[in-house]
Amino acid sequence: MLLNKSKLPNVGNTIFTEMSQLALQHNAINLGQGFPDFPMNQELIALVNKAMQDGYNQYAHSDGLPLLRERIAEKIKFLYNTSVDYNKEIIVTPGGTYAIYTSLTAVLNIGDEVIVFEPAYDSYIPAIEVNGAKAVTIPLSFPNYKIDWSEVKNRINSRTKMIMINSPQNPTGTILTGNDIKELINITQGTNILILSDEVYEHLIYDNEKHESILKYPELKERSFVCFSFGKVFNCTGWKLGYCVAPEMLMKEFRKIHQFNCFSCFTPSQIAIAEYLQKKETYLSLSNQLQTKRDYLRELLSDTLFTPIPSKGSYFECYDYSQLSHDDEKTFAVRLTKSVGVAGIPVSAFYKTPVNNHVIRFCFAKKNETLEIAAERLKNAAKKL
Ligand code: PMP
Ligand code: GLN
Repeated sequence: MLLNKSKLPNVGNTIFTEMSQLALQHNAINLGQGFPDFPMNQELIALVNKAMQDGYNQYAHSDGLPLLRERIAEKIKFLYNTSVDYNKEIIVTPGGTYAIYTSLTAVLNIGDEVIVFEPAYDSYIPAIEVNGAKAVTIPLSFPNYKIDWSEVKNRINSRTKMIMINSPQNPTGTILTGNDIKELINITQGTNILILSDEVYEHLIYDNEKHESILKYPELKERSFVCFSFGKVFNCTGWKLGYCVAPEMLMKEFRKIHQFNCFSCFTPSQIAIAEYLQKKETYLSLSNQLQTKRDYLRELLSDTLFTPIPSKGSYFECYDYSQLSHDDEKTFAVRLTKSVGVAGIPVSAFYKTPVNNHVIRFCFAKKNETLEIAAERLKNAAKKL
């Protein structure tokens, strides 16, 4: 055998690949994978074109275009009132997933433990395990998806290297509150535990809630990798551009991995975003735009057998389908795609060992027309399943 031992023996295609393919095959409306189907801003596209025309087509600085890092630091100062050294504490990455993977790879050693709350974004556990570390999973309560901090205390031991958090959370749309942050400060104070905070949905937060960035809390910021994605800020998930913010000591290790992996990111989009970031209203208006979408899908589904589990952020809202079917989540999601023509993501896919709460995740970052067709189909689901 050329290859006799897989590094990730239990990993197949991601649920996003699987459900998007199935949606395509069955001509289903895709409320599964999280990406907007409405156009992104034309002005930003024009700025990328201009950067290319102007000749910015060679490698950027490995840490990211300096002007972009400077603008990111300004944005962080404006939003979270904290200073970040753009020469030492920011690295631009090809997306948020890469920032997460690189942070983990930079610090994890064989046998280290990382606390992960489930349901968890699907890249976390494989990225921990491929580095020889162990994911210690703690379930969020159901149906409120809250962290049980006493359980976190119970699970911490001398091998605990890191706690991963994600707010607004994928797939549940829950957010961390000031109280959660206090608990996190108490638990980590006086320890060497690192934090990885996935904040790719920082601007997608609803109902007048405020994003509790780790960057706002010096006690946490000093031990954290904080990961972001421009794909989510400018409705261009396919651009795969993001960044990581961390203290110099952590960034030094991050840079060692990054410089031998992608080295540097696509230059034209960095030039364009550096300019575009100055228009604060583009990211400050996102919450309103997407909250309208969340509410619209909720309203459209109000006379169906899908019951929302309220989302406070992200592109997603989870729906309980137990009035409609007792199928497990994966079976239900596949049948819904094939028979009803609407694809969603089974929340069970975000657990190491699938649980079955009869919950499906829908992405509402779609044109109204897309949401309307999906809702019309979902209204008739009982007849078709
Ligand atoms: N974290 C979470 C929770 C996400 O939902 C996503 C979405 N893809 C990412 C990270 C990564 O984003 P990117 O596409 O920039 O890699
Ligand atoms: N983050 C997106 C989601 O949760 C998908 C990303 C991907 O396809 N890997 O749906």
